[in-house]
Amino acid sequence: MDLVEETPYRFRIDRHDPMRVPGVVFASRDLMPDLGTDKSLAQVANVAALPGIVAASYAMPDLHWGYGFPIGGVAATDVAADGVVSPGGVGFDISCGVRLLAADLDLAGLRPVLDPLMDGLDVAIPRGMGKGAVWQLTGRAQLDEVLRGGSRYAVEQGHGVERDLHRCEDYGAVSEADPGQVSGRAVERGQGQVGSLGSGNHFLEVQAVDQVYDERAATAFGLRTGQVCVMIHCGSRGMGHQICTDHVRVMETVMPRYGITVPDRQLACAPVSSPEGRGYLGAMAAAANYARANRQLLTESARRVFDRVTGCRLDLVYDISHNLAKIETHGVDGGRRELCVHRKGATRALPSGHPDLPDDLRAVGQPVLIPGSMGTPSYVLTGVPDAPAFASTCHGAGRTQSRKQATTSIRGQDLRRQLEAHNIAVRGASWRGLAEEKPEAYKDINAVVDAAEGAGLCRRVARLVPVGVVKG
Ligand code: 5GP
Ligand code: MN
Ligand code: MN
Repeated sequence: MDLVEETPYRFRIDRHDPMRVPGVVFASRDLMPDLGTDKSLAQVANVAALPGIVAASYAMPDLHWGYGFPIGGVAATDVAADGVVSPGGVGFDISCGVRLLAADLDLAGLRPVLDPLMDGLDVAIPRGMGKGAVWQLTGRAQLDEVLRGGSRYAVEQGHGVERDLHRCEDYGAVSEADPGQVSGRAVERGQGQVGSLGSGNHFLEVQAVDQVYDERAATAFGLRTGQVCVMIHCGSRGMGHQICTDHVRVMETVMPRYGITVPDRQLACAPVSSPEGRGYLGAMAAAANYARANRQLLTESARRVFDRVTGCRLDLVYDISHNLAKIETHGVDGGRRELCVHRKGATRALPSGHPDLPDDLRAVGQPVLIPGSMGTPSYVLTGVPDAPAFASTCHGAGRTQSRKQATTSIRGQDLRRQLEAHNIAVRGASWRGLAEEKPEAYKDINAVVDAAEGAGLCRRVARLVPVGVVKG
């Protein structure tokens, strides 16, 4: 397999059997995974073999290995041409995503109360594997309300304000959720986890805006230099994981019936319009709503702590998923087509003028939230017109080391000391979990954002630096 350099930030994998379309990797030479030792480029080529795929199998600059699809992968299939949906193209943590809140407070005002604030968050934010949650649901009926209503239901129940919903993708809930497609096991796993971070890569981070690149967009987003922010990264916990497991199994068994063969079993799929395809999308939407409610409940907890310790408000900048498949209409070969756009470890990035944006963001574009690591900056970007890859960009820095590799070189205790020496407060769930997340385990976020911007996928709006991290 060869990589053809089209521009400094765009590389092509030419079509070869069984690929139906080429692969396109948006990255610099420096960021490019090693063809010899890393399997993620082969995964980009494998995805290109999916029935109904249009244009190309895309990879973002934070590309790394994942289940079936690479993380940082984007693929769209044509619904009318028997295009498929593949649970591996969404991932196990369905609708994992990021939410950014902006405080009416500057970093200088926060410093004197940072310790009590972090201690408050430490207590208020449940995390780690299966250790409690903010919201005690009354039973299956209420869980179904969460699965159907997402953040909207949470706000109706008093866990937030109406304005929050205007700043959530899909106004806080997708409408296609089908709780009937969610197994008993998934319900069991999800029942007690609404309002919990989960494991190590998930976090709630206190940050400060240290640079604004686009004053007009930043103002529309509600951001200014020096301002304190809170970034929350979490997903659908055991609920999404079980739904993915269940539906991969179903698709593995029905693929022969639809005459589908894939180069990797982990790409199990079914036509979007088949009962199995629709079943997965209904269950996936339920998990997506669960993830949004999860982030809404953690927001409420963070607001309580901020109010108590600082007397300050937290306003939602935006909430966006980076693991999702969506039915969207895009221009392909001169016509408009209904596509199933898989974004796995990739963020939707709508440009200014897009009808799906709320009124107060339409003139500037969608906020794109890109975390870096607990020791490096994170970025807020926005979509650009006529971008390639169906209005998508990266979702983070992307791992370069496995969790196991990361823990061989540093102990959690030492890492915490290092971060604190840089004025970053740390509240972890476990020492091992902390070491797995050391900043060096991730690619250089500045290089990733440079490449995403250089490739014409998005545009920088502001940079955030970490002040204190509550780690899953
Ligand atoms: P993922 O969804 O793939 O687990 O993670 C998304 C991205 O979050 C990672 O690629 C990484 O760049 C970033 N990230 C992981 N841990 C932290 C953290 O503690 N703080 C910040 N700001 N970013 C993180
Ligand atoms: Mn996740
Ligand atoms: Mn994530």
